Amino acid sequence: MTHHLVVLGAGYAGLVAAKGAARRLRRHGGVRITLVNASSRFVERVRLHQLAAGRPLRDLPLHTLLAGTGIELVVARATAIDAAARTVRLDTAPYALTYDTLVYALGSTADTTTVPGAAEHTSAVATHQDAARLRARTADTWGPLAVAGAGLTGIETAAELAEAHPGRTVHLVTQGQLGPGLSERGRRYLRTALGRRGVDLREHTRVREVAAHGLVLADGGELPADTVVWTAGFRVPGLARAAGFAVDDRGLVAVDPTLRSLSHPEVFAAGDAVAAYGPGGVASRMSCQTGLPMGAYVARSVAASLTGRTPDPLRLRYVWQNISLGRHDGLTQFTRPDDSPVGAVLTGRASARFKEAVTRGTVLALRR
Ligand SMILES: Cc1cc2nc3c(=O)[nH]c(=O)nc-3n(C[C@H](O)[C@H](O)[C@H](O)COP(=O)(O)OP(=O)(O)OC[C@H]3O[C@@H](n4cnc5c(N)ncnc54)[C@H](O)[C@@H]3O)c2cc1C
Repeated sequence: MTHHLVVLGAGYAGLVAAKGAARRLRRHGGVRITLVNASSRFVERVRLHQLAAGRPLRDLPLHTLLAGTGIELVVARATAIDAAARTVRLDTAPYALTYDTLVYALGSTADTTTVPGAAEHTSAVATHQDAARLRARTADTWGPLAVAGAGLTGIETAAELAEAHPGRTVHLVTQGQLGPGLSERGRRYLRTALGRRGVDLREHTRVREVAAHGLVLADGGELPADTVVWTAGFRVPGLARAAGFAVDDRGLVAVDPTLRSLSHPEVFAAGDAVAAYGPGGVASRMSCQTGLPMGAYVARSVAASLTGRTPDPLRLRYVWQNISLGRHDGLTQFTRPDDSPVGAVLTGRASARFKEAVTRGTVLALRR
């Protein structure tokens, strides 16, 4: 009987997982692969701050990225998973898909639940729709922009908006320090580069509430803004928790070192949606640097499980954190394998070119 492998999500992790499984199982026969995604396009999520700043993204139809693989693409939103019946419910035809093996790779979205008013009064850059809406909003308004959260996404977004809207005030507000995972040298470079673009950086500044007119701060002060961009946290879709899969306290799928669900052995997970750990038990960072190797690994893990083998455990290793600061500037922070920063950094145009090469190289690899 044909074995049905269903991959949920065609982002970096899911697309690599589906294509890798197709390649590995080509000669095995008897396996059908279906990839389910909410959109018919692959979204280069690492460029969404560029889209928000008015730079259109390349069109990458999934059917061209899947050409010749034999993978069936279903463009639909997964609305629920019935773990007992091994069925995924969809919002459009074919409405349901029954699986023998499931790969869960649904990514993440902005978490606007942590501060009152954030859900009502903020924009985001976590999905294509978020970024397109933000672009439309910034084009229609002239007042100050505020970016809440100065992790890597917040830094990139503030720099990109400041470059695209010269003369317009851009606040970057964070309750801790800028780029908490960076070296002091890296942070120094960022402060200078953001200052050059006129970004008003507010470190150690907690947002108490988001109102229609801007940010209300914990010290009672206010930062008026036409548009507030929320990058102060990401959350994962609730489908895994609702299905009864073992999850951690943030709803990330709990897996063993082969990325197999701790509660449901027929389920694997990859990318932002999974709780995996690198050297020293450090939780994996939500990033392509994590999602791409996880996708490739899951393909190996699934293929091994279908051919009666046990794969070696996943070994996550980091090398750098690549941050764009507009189109011609950047910071590459080199890291230890556990993602902690070393002193070495690459800055300026050289870093921007390096990041562009990595980003383009990723899409080239996805096309193969
Ligand atoms: C602005 C920005 C800049 C970033 N820059 C970097 C960077 O420079 N370097 C880096 O390493 N990381 C970066 N990241 C993080 C990186 O983009 C994510 O970690 C990565 O996309 C995660 O890959 P994924 O496959 O898990 O999820 P995603 O890429 O989010 O893919 C998930 C897929 O699932 C689909 N989906 C979701 N829900 C459903 C559903 N219910 N039904 C069907 N389909 C669904 C989505 O449409 C999407 O196609 C950035 C993120 C943002 C937002």
